[in-house]
Amino acid sequence: MRFMERQHTTHSAEQTCELGRRCGEELRPGDLITLEGPLGAGKTTFTQGIARALGLASDVVSPTFVLIIEHAGRIPLLHLDAYRLENLCHDAVRDAGVLDFLDREDAVKLVEWPQRIADFLPVPRLRVVIAPGPGADERNITITRQ
Ligand code: ADP
Ligand code: MG
Repeated sequence: MRFMERQHTTHSAEQTCELGRRCGEELRPGDLITLEGPLGAGKTTFTQGIARALGLASDVVSPTFVLIIEHAGRIPLLHLDAYRLENLCHDAVRDAGVLDFLDREDAVKLVEWPQRIADFLPVPRLRVVIAPGPGADERNITITRQ
C-alpha cells in the first residue's frame, strides 16, 4: 500500500474509480479507511472502485438515508456515512452502531465524513482526502496512513 501513499491527480470519474480499485486490491479484512471531501468530490466514485476490488455483487450508493450499509463480497464492505453524527457523546455513538461497526474484523470498514466522529476512530487507518479542481473534472486525491 505504501506505493499508493502520496498525492494522485485524476481527470475523470473513471480514473478515480480505478484509483479506488487499486487501493482496494491492497485492503485486508479489518482495515479502516476514511474518505474526506466536499459533496460531489468523488467519495462514492472512489468507493465503487474499492467495491470492485473486493468483488462486491451489488452497486455502491452513498448510505445517505441509512447510517451503515453492508455489502457482501470476497471481503465484505461496511460503508458508514457519519455526516449526521456531529457532536455526539459516546453513548449516542454506541447506540448508532458505530462501535459495533469498528469492532468488525471480518470486513473492510469505510467511513465518509470521519471528521464527525474523529474522537472515536482508532488508528491505524488509511486516510483519503479528495480535493476538487482547479479543472472541472480534476481531483487531487491524497492517500496517507494515520
Ligand atoms: P461524493 O460521494 O463525494 O458526493 P460522487 O462520487 O457521488 O461524490 O460524485 C462525483 C461526481 O463528480 C460525479 O458526478 C462524477 O461523474 C463527477 N466527476 C467528475 N470528474 C471526476 C473525477 N476526476 N473523480 C470523481 N468524480 C468526478
Ligand atoms: Mg457520496
